[in-house]
Amino acid sequence: MKRALITGISGQDGAYLAQLLLSKGYKVVGLIRRSSTQEANNTRLNWLGIADDVELVDGDLTDTASLIRLVAEHKPDEFYNLAAQSFVGSSWQQPTLTANVTGLGALNCLEAIRATNPNTRFYQASSSEMFGKIQAQKQSETTPFYPRSPYAVAKLFAHWTTINFRESFGIHASSGILFNHESPLRGREFVTRKVTNAVARIKLGRQKEVRLGNIDALRDWGHARDYVRAMWLMLQQDKADDYVVATGRTVSIRNMCEIAFSHVGLKAEDHIVIDPAFFRPAEVDVLLGDASKAKNALGWVPEITLEQMIQEMVDADLKRVAAEPA
Ligand code: NDP
Ligand code: GDP
Repeated sequence: MKRALITGISGQDGAYLAQLLLSKGYKVVGLIRRSSTQEANNTRLNWLGIADDVELVDGDLTDTASLIRLVAEHKPDEFYNLAAQSFVGSSWQQPTLTANVTGLGALNCLEAIRATNPNTRFYQASSSEMFGKIQAQKQSETTPFYPRSPYAVAKLFAHWTTINFRESFGIHASSGILFNHESPLRGREFVTRKVTNAVARIKLGRQKEVRLGNIDALRDWGHARDYVRAMWLMLQQDKADDYVVATGRTVSIRNMCEIAFSHVGLKAEDHIVIDPAFFRPAEVDVLLGDASKAKNALGWVPEITLEQMIQEMVDADLKRVAAEPA
C-alpha cells in the first residue's frame, strides 16, 4: 500500500487529492494545524464523505521539527505540499506570514525529506500568479516570471527551492504551475465562489447585490478535481519535472458572472456593484496557460468545462444556502 502525506488536506485541493489517492488504494495522512475550532478541519473532507478514511496528524509548515517528525514516522512514498496562505488579497495584509508559510514552508518540507527520507517524492503547489505581469501571451514552463503580490513572490521562492533541491540533492521534487482552479469547495473569498454563493443568496432572496473589484481581469479557470489528477501524474513519472496545468481558455470575471447568474435565470448586470475596496494594489490582468507539456508527457487534459464547473458551484451553493437559517 502506497503512503501519501498531504499538507493542506483541509483545503480545497487537499480534500480532492485525498479522495483521488484513496480511490487508488493509498494510505492518506494529512497534516493539519491546531485550531480552537478543530471540527472546521473536516468540513471539506466531510463534504466528500472521506473524513473517516484519512489519518489527520498535528503539524505546521512553519514548524520544521513537526515536519521532520512526520516524515520520519510515516515514511511517505509521496509528499504533496498544498498548504499555504493561499489568498492573494490577504498577502498584502500579512506579507511576513505569507512569506513564512507559502515560501519558507516549502523549504521546511524539503529539508524534512532531505534529513529523514530522501526517497520520498515531493510535489510543490506552484501558481500561475508567478507569471503576474505576463511576459508572453500564453504562459508555459519557459515563460519568465514577474510576480505581482507577496503571495506570488513567496510562491516563486518555493518553486525555485523545489528545483534547487532536485538539482542539488537528487530529490524527486516536482512543481505544478497550476492556473486558477475552483469547485464547490473553493474558499468564499475567491471570486468564483464569492459570486456563486451570492447568486444562490440573491436567487433565494437572502441578499440583493454582490460587491466586486476589477471584473475586467481575465483568468484561465479549471476544476480542482481535474487538477489534482495532474499532481498525482507528476509524481508517477520516472523523472521529476515542472509542468503548467491550465485549460488554455481565458475568461473575464464579468463573463464568469454572466455564466453564474444566467444559470438561475438572473442578469449579472442587475446585481453587480463595483466596490474599490476589492481592487488590489497591483493586479494580474490576464492569465492564459499553455499546458502542452502536461498533455504530451503526462497524458493530462482537463475534462470539466468552465460552464459545467460554475453551474455545479451554483447548484451546490443553492443547496447550502437553502439549508442555512434565513
Ligand atoms: P486552500 O486555501 O483551500 O487550502 C490551504 C491549506 O493550507 C489549508 O488546508 C490550510 O489549513 C493550510 N495551511 C495554511 N497555513 C498553514 C500552516 N502554517 N501550516 C499547515 N497548513 C497550513 O488552498 P487550495 O486548496 O485552493 O490550494 C492548494 C495549494 O495550491 C495552495 O498552496 C495554493 O496556494 C496553491 N494554488 C492554488 C490554486 C487555486 O486556484 N486553487 C492555483 C495555484 C496554486 P487551514 O484549513 O487550517 O486554514
Ligand atoms: P487569484 O487569481 O488567485 O487572485 O484569485 P481570485 O479569485 O482571488 O481573484 C481573481 C481575479 O478576480 C483577480 O484579478 C481579482 O482582482 C478579481 N476580482 C474582482 N473582484 C473580486 C472580488 O471581489 N474578490 C476577489 N477575490 N477577486 C476579485
